[in-house]
Amino acid sequence: MLSGLITGRNQGGPSAGAAAAYGSIPIRPGLVARIRESLANRRDPIFVDLGATGELAVARVRILLLCILLTIQILPGTATEVRRVTLPLNIVALVIALLVYILASRRPQPWLEGFGSSAADVTLVSCGLAAFLLLDQPHTAVNSGTLFELYFLAIGCASLRYNPQACALTGLLAVGQYGTIVIYTAGRWNLNDARYAPFKLGMFDWSTQGMRLILLAGAALVSALIVLRAQSLRQISTIDVLSGAATRRAFDERLEAEASRARRNYRPLAIALIDIDNFKQVNDTRGHATGDAVLRAVAGIFLQSLRPSDVVARFGGDEFALLLPETTAELVMDRLERLRAAVADTGVLPAGDRSGKPVQVTLSIGVANWPDDGPRIHLVLAAADARLYEAKRRGRNRIVGPAQDAELREVGAENA
Ligand code: GH3
Ligand code: MG
Repeated sequence: MLSGLITGRNQGGPSAGAAAAYGSIPIRPGLVARIRESLANRRDPIFVDLGATGELAVARVRILLLCILLTIQILPGTATEVRRVTLPLNIVALVIALLVYILASRRPQPWLEGFGSSAADVTLVSCGLAAFLLLDQPHTAVNSGTLFELYFLAIGCASLRYNPQACALTGLLAVGQYGTIVIYTAGRWNLNDARYAPFKLGMFDWSTQGMRLILLAGAALVSALIVLRAQSLRQISTIDVLSGAATRRAFDERLEAEASRARRNYRPLAIALIDIDNFKQVNDTRGHATGDAVLRAVAGIFLQSLRPSDVVARFGGDEFALLLPETTAELVMDRLERLRAAVADTGVLPAGDRSGKPVQVTLSIGVANWPDDGPRIHLVLAAADARLYEAKRRGRNRIVGPAQDAELREVGAENA
């Protein structure tokens, strides 16, 4: 019996398939669990895309800011000795910013994905502060009221990469680098010596510095939370709460993306449509709650049995759809046939059903694939749907794929 598939884990939601494709499980886990999960799971493709466009936006803002800073330094008024250190630093930063922009605009760079460029931003701010140590202006390095705030800009921009780990790491790096500057400066200079009077930027004070470090850590936490909240909202719209499978909307989104990837690389893409047979009877005989548990169990069977790159979606009612990249209908038939037979042989034991009796259900499945079943993906979906209808027509509890279609055509030709 497939009872193992209908335990508490399934009740909680998917373990692979939709979970991997769309981030996480439908029941909201705690913050630590969510962070661990987003570390373990493949990133949601939507967030990868948003992260890439965010990277580009940040790259533009970075260039603009550095150009403004450069102009300020070229204008008369900046002390020559200050300019001697800050101008080369500004020019190096601008060259790096232009390089990052060129790389980010070509195509998404995995190494840039959030942390790479955020780390560069934080390090540039630290270099700017450290430059004042070279000018023997330690108070500017530790009490600067403008350069220090750029850390917050860098941490805030990290959230535009939609990667919570990148936000946290950017904050940690800022705390580490700024903390090092403060400790070094306080050890090397007697910062509250009377010769620095009238202390235009204020006297050195450990509690203020501690507060600054706490604020940096706080900003990183807030930017990571903003990303996690965005991910939660995304889950609500992409995971079907009842079954734990992806929603129809999420399926359509992935279908588009996978279809263009398949066309680009000329790789096959299979689609399977699954409908539970006589499901109305399950509701009528065992009650609606058991019917719901059966839907969850059936979704769980597919979520646990397919690859992480496959998508399992609930189309509505008792109908499910599978999106299976890099495979053909023929190749996928065996796997699905085994699952169909297992469900038919053993039934499913719905979690929470007091009777403890397994529910006998069977599945009808239609399978098709791009490019064999049509040049456009909606034609492939229509072919899978027609085959599902054919499976029902032939008596249910079966799979219909291209081979069975061919048989049917042969029989039709013989009868003609
Ligand atoms: P067939 O073999 O032709 O598919 O017969 P069927 O009884 O399964 O018919 P059909 O697929 O058309 O019916 C779907 C039924 O699924 C209708 C409704 O009672 C039930 N259903 C739809 N959504 C839900 C749901 O969210 N929970 C439960 N428990 N039942 C649902
Ligand atoms: Mg049905």
